[in-house]
Amino acid sequence: MDNCIFCKIARGEIPSKKLYEDEEIVGFHDINPQAPVHFMLMPKKHLASLSDATKDDVNVLGRILALTGRLAREQGSPDGYRTIINTGRIGRQDVMHLHVHVIGGPEPLGRMLPKSL
Ligand code: AMP
Ligand code: ZN
Repeated sequence: MDNCIFCKIARGEIPSKKLYEDEEIVGFHDINPQAPVHFMLMPKKHLASLSDATKDDVNVLGRILALTGRLAREQGSPDGYRTIINTGRIGRQDVMHLHVHVIGGPEPLGRMLPKSL
C-alpha cells in the first residue's frame, strides 16, 4: 500500500524506533506512548484491520501474540501487560494497518475501559 504510514515504517521509508523485526513482523515504539511501555507489533503485509483477517493471516497473528511476552519483559513490563487491537470505526482505529498495541510498565495500568461503559 503506497499511502499507508505503517507500510512505510515496515519498508523503512519513514523512521521509527524499531525493537523487533523478522521476515514478516515489525515491532516499534508508539510515537505517543500511553504508558511507560507502549509498542506495536504488526504484520509487514498490509492488512487494514482485524476484521479483514482470513485464515491466511492466522500464522502471523499467532506469531505476533506469541512474541508479546518476551518483548514486553525486555522493554520493562516484567509482570504482565495489556494488548489492544483497535478495529474499525467502532474500535476507534486511527491507522488502518492492523497492529497490536502492547502497553505496560513497572506498575499496574488503569482500568481497561472507563467505568461509565
Ligand atoms: P490505533 O488507534 O490503534 O490505530 O493507533 C494508532 C497508533 O499509532 C497511535 O497510538 C499513534 O500514537 C501511533 N502512531 C501513529 N503514527 C506513528 C508513527 N509514525 N510511529 C509510531 N507510532 C505512530
Ligand atoms: Zn499498510
